[in-house]
Amino acid sequence: MDRLEETTISRTIISTFHDKLLDRIVNDVLIVGAGPSGMMAAIRLARDGFKVTVLEKRLSPGGGLWGGGMAMSQAVIQDEALPLLDEIGVAHESASGGLHTTDAVELAAGLCLKTVQSGAALFNLMMVEDVCVQRERVTGVVVNRPLIGETLPVDPIMFSANAVVDGTGHDAAVVQALRRRGLLADVFTDRSREGPMDAAAGEAFVVENVAEAFPGLWVSGMSVCATFGGPRMGPIFGGMLLSGKRVAELVAAAVKEMRK
Ligand SMILES: Cc1cc2nc3c(=O)[nH]c(=O)nc-3n(C[C@H](O)[C@H](O)[C@H](O)COP(=O)(O)OP(=O)(O)OC[C@H]3O[C@@H](n4cnc5c(N)ncnc54)[C@H](O)[C@@H]3O)c2cc1C
Repeated sequence: MDRLEETTISRTIISTFHDKLLDRIVNDVLIVGAGPSGMMAAIRLARDGFKVTVLEKRLSPGGGLWGGGMAMSQAVIQDEALPLLDEIGVAHESASGGLHTTDAVELAAGLCLKTVQSGAALFNLMMVEDVCVQRERVTGVVVNRPLIGETLPVDPIMFSANAVVDGTGHDAAVVQALRRRGLLADVFTDRSREGPMDAAAGEAFVVENVAEAFPGLWVSGMSVCATFGGPRMGPIFGGMLLSGKRVAELVAAAVKEMRK
């Protein structure tokens, strides 16, 4: 075996990462936020042949999944979302009341693995701080490294896509970027606050209200509540997976239409 050269290790990291990054500047779909809804959407879209890149600002993708409820790392899922657990390939057990449980760490890790294995690229430590808009349509996002972008005068870089999904949870970070620029109609601003906890209503809301909030920008998961004013639902995750599945269906149809 060759002697391990420190410089070769460094060159390998730099060249393979930059090859991957260069390949992902132009995309069919950009998904901002690697929570359960964003990764479920990425899995479905990449599996269907779209070029999908997921941008996550934290070191660990998985969003709010890891901690389950109050740091008890069990994820609770309702009947309707059970086929998605099988699709991701994680073990689950039945509980009472039409509920099922899975290890939250297994689900978070399973979503990460399935996202990458489906052909999507998943970049961590990439923070979306603004949007690109051309002819009144979102055409991409503006990205910097967390901490660097927040504390130092360092310019960001841009990624483009035919469709962008805001899967950033409570932050609704991409929607907020449009609001800051005065580009969203007042109706969104008026309904921008999440409601108090109502698990059944909140779970239904995040699926039924998945929508294109601005031309080229879709919202999924908790961002749907943050954008349109639905109730929060606490530590149940089936609605997030179903919301990701729903946004994938809408985005796939829209991107196919754009290609005609
Ligand atoms: C750390 C954390 C703790 C939570 N705790 C609770 C709780 O106690 N009770 C409750 O009801 N709900 C909580 N939530 C939300 C709850 O987990 C959600 O219901 C569920 O996880 C939402 O799923 P999601 O896919 O919509 O987004 P999330 O799971 O929230 O994931 C969103 C992802 O987007 C990333 N992100 C955000 N902004 C940007 C950006 N600008 N650029 C790139 N990536 C970005 C985040 O880092 C995160 O990984 C929490 C969420 C998080 C992230």
